[in-house]
Amino acid sequence: MTTLAIDGGTPVRAEGWPSWPPAATPEQHALLREVVDSGHWGSTSGRRCAEFTEAFAARHGCAHGVTVANGTLALFAALRAAGVGEGDEVAEVIVPGYTFVASATSVLLAGARPVIADVDPDHLHLSAATVEAALTDRTRAIMPVHLAGSPAPMDELTALAARAGVAVVEDAAQAHGAAYRDRPVGGLGDAATFSFQASKAMSAGEGGLITTNDAALADAAWSVCNLGRVRGGAWYHHAELGWNLRMTELQAALLTPWLDRLDAEIDRREEFATGLAAALTGELPVRVVGDPEGTTRNTRHLLLLRLDEHVDKAWVVRALAAEGVPADAGYPGLGRITPVAENAVVLDAPGVDRAAASVLWLRQDVLMSGAAGVGDVLAALERVVADPRAFGRS
Ligand SMILES: *Cc1c(COP(=O)(O)O)cnc(C)c1O
Repeated sequence: MTTLAIDGGTPVRAEGWPSWPPAATPEQHALLREVVDSGHWGSTSGRRCAEFTEAFAARHGCAHGVTVANGTLALFAALRAAGVGEGDEVAEVIVPGYTFVASATSVLLAGARPVIADVDPDHLHLSAATVEAALTDRTRAIMPVHLAGSPAPMDELTALAARAGVAVVEDAAQAHGAAYRDRPVGGLGDAATFSFQASKAMSAGEGGLITTNDAALADAAWSVCNLGRVRGGAWYHHAELGWNLRMTELQAALLTPWLDRLDAEIDRREEFATGLAAALTGELPVRVVGDPEGTTRNTRHLLLLRLDEHVDKAWVVRALAAEGVPADAGYPGLGRITPVAENAVVLDAPGVDRAAASVLWLRQDVLMSGAAGVGDVLAALERVVADPRAFGRS
């Protein structure tokens, strides 16, 4: 038997993976230099943020957008603009239990209470059933998260939200360019938010953006991010409570050219995903996590894999890393993050618990290797799960 790399053997893959985010392209260099040389570094004097916002919103089927300092604050501002967090009674926002921590902490920042709901055990999104179990007369909004580039089942979620009379704020931080029933994410609810943090599919190091088709909501979100000013109004007129949550022109310069290459990058990650999914059949105790019905484009921000029951995920992740295949053990579940749980309503979530125990993922660096990288990942998986320790036996 081959000696595993974790025991000192030769790793399956000695060479590295494409770095993410990638180095700047000539187009990004040119635009960045133009902004730097212009002296218009902030969006209050330059036009790069405004132009990027318009193009990004249009790409996501939306008439309006607002750039924000990051994705967490974009969620905060979108919630405030949707009326969440106002009034005496503590408003509730239903969030999925299997997501990044900011989906919940943004709700707390807005002055509301996250209600942490279960996810569907197959596709790991909120569903009408899991949201129904979390609805109360204090619910003001639902936050579907387009996890790993996979759109949430929006038909059933928006239908339920309409019946309950609550807002829908899409957390699309991981889903630039994703589509559901041929419609881009971003305009499927009342508002949506994106992130341009370093690990995301489009990055400026940090950054965020709100998209919406509701002109009044867009103005309200702009006001939240601009110290309560009125768009087009006087500089020292503050009609609402607001903060400075703006993105810079330098970030827009890095992001604008990215719109032209986003599709090709999604296709490359999809080639990897399709290749690996096809190879993961038969004996191997690992599968690619499937999408909800209605998915037209999963952008593969991450590739989620599910291990069979009885597989020791922590050991597999360690053994894969030694073989040169970096994988993440995934989220612990919001209900297990103590400072969040202490300030939230945590519901029973067997789907989340199962995901926390069995799901791991590959990131952009590995996925951007395209079809060429599949062989090494498959070889590493085969090697690692052939060892009894993968099943907790020694
Ligand atoms: C990254 C992320 C955020 C937060 O975005 P930042 O730009 O890092 O603040 C929110 N929700 C999800 C699902 C994310 O992945």
